[in-house]
Amino acid sequence: MAIRELTTFPNEVLRKRAAEVTEFDSELKDLINDMVETMRIAPGVGLAAPQIGVSKRVIVVEFGHEDDETVPNQLYVVINPEIVKQSNDKVSGIEGCLSVPGVVGEVDRARVVTVQGQDSDGKRIKIRAQGWLARIFQHEIDHINGMLYTDRAENIWQPEQDEMDSI
Ligand code: ZN
Repeated sequence: MAIRELTTFPNEVLRKRAAEVTEFDSELKDLINDMVETMRIAPGVGLAAPQIGVSKRVIVVEFGHEDDETVPNQLYVVINPEIVKQSNDKVSGIEGCLSVPGVVGEVDRARVVTVQGQDSDGKRIKIRAQGWLARIFQHEIDHINGMLYTDRAENIWQPEQDEMDSI
């Protein structure tokens, strides 16, 4: 495992539609391990492969519960993720991004999403997420489509202290 360097705005890899993963080989597993390690060290609660300069449709998310600290963190690894269902109701929340350091912004996101994709062996998986977890998935899936939260944010500012979980 290795910690990879984070790519930051305006690196063009963050603006590309990342490539579909077709080979579920040891190279993919190495990439996933590096992403998990890099996310934990950053620290962040989610990371998409373009954020370490790899234009592939791979995301990792590690999160417990927004209101209950006793809920242990769960790690999600999703290859070729897509949102197949989302609630019409949106919630506003404040996001920070490891690839856009120093600022945060307020973004409306669907409250509930269903994410479909594959695990590291290529097996189909489906995850239903709500609240912060749903927000993290939407943020990471934006990354593999070349979008940043700053494209969606109503306002962006520099926080007084860096206490946000970045994604
Ligand atoms: Zn981000």
